[in-house]
Amino acid sequence: MAADLPGEFEIIKRYFSPLSGRVTGAFGLTDDAAVLDFETGQDLVVTTDCLISDVHFLAEDPPDAIAHKAFAVNGSDLAAMGAKPQAYTLALALPKGTTEEWLADFVKGISLFFDRFGAGLVGGDTVATAGPLTATVTALGTVGAGQALTRSAAKPGDGIFVSGTIGDGAMGLRAARGGLGELPADDRTYLIERYRRPSPRLDLGQQLVGIASAAIDISDGLLADLEHVCRCSGSGATIDLGRIPLSNAANTCVSSGHTDLEALVAGGDDYELLFTVPPEKAKKMPDLSEELGLPISPIGEIQKAGEGPSIISIRDENGGEVANRQIGYRHF
Ligand code: ADP
Ligand code: MG
Repeated sequence: MAADLPGEFEIIKRYFSPLSGRVTGAFGLTDDAAVLDFETGQDLVVTTDCLISDVHFLAEDPPDAIAHKAFAVNGSDLAAMGAKPQAYTLALALPKGTTEEWLADFVKGISLFFDRFGAGLVGGDTVATAGPLTATVTALGTVGAGQALTRSAAKPGDGIFVSGTIGDGAMGLRAARGGLGELPADDRTYLIERYRRPSPRLDLGQQLVGIASAAIDISDGLLADLEHVCRCSGSGATIDLGRIPLSNAANTCVSSGHTDLEALVAGGDDYELLFTVPPEKAKKMPDLSEELGLPISPIGEIQKAGEGPSIISIRDENGGEVANRQIGYRHF
């Protein structure tokens, strides 16, 4: 039989305290708050994301994957600012009936995340809720003073680059919901894994400080997020669909007619970085890609803000203009 949860203090002691080990000012989560001491000459970068069951993940997703995602989406925001993660907090609202097995698996996901991407847990809150499970993570990172990458400094003529492959998150969500049954099993597994356990591009983000003019992580979808950069920078952009990097699995989805390139650039949940680089620095990209073992692909160029209604013009594989569609996930 599934075990009921122990009390709040026992949960903290048993499950969360061990995750604070690397950060001395966390006091093993036994004090009222953590005291963090950062190097001088560094700016503090702070971001929060709230994940709600059946909005941001599926209630039946493996608990360790839910934890991974809660931390990864915050880590991805730090990456997009060029910051190095230093610490995280976690506010967890657990519905009645949550079992200790569920919590233990969830905590394992946090632990594996820290092993892979660094930092530790320095605080949080643990409460019961009559609503759905929510996990709110705050990430704290550091970047050289005044050096954080923003969305607002892309300039006409800058190249637009993306890391990794695009569209796996959107296809992975379809597969996780039971779709794409005709795909080879390996491809489905790969896509679901990409959706459930995205890799925040933290090393790349830190390397882009001093190189990229603007950066954003791709959470709403490549087009929607590029549009954010353009609006903040007061510019337009042109991208080439033929240069969008796809995984083998996403390619299979396209060639078998399950999706097309336009849908993949509109789909969310990739957690890759999109960034702009001035022409004189763009030649560093192949070496950086090699060093990180991560594809970095040029997909277009920042333009002067256009006259027309569409900020982004999209060229198809033959160089023809694609009619622009409304894009990205909207909560409201
Ligand atoms: P308070 O009564 O001040 O809210 P709590 O009893 O909720 O404090 O928490 C005790 C300590 O445990 C605090 O340091 C808090 O940051 C930490 N803590 C509580 N829940 C979590 C959690 N889910 N993850 C990490 N730390 C937590
Ligand atoms: Mg509390």
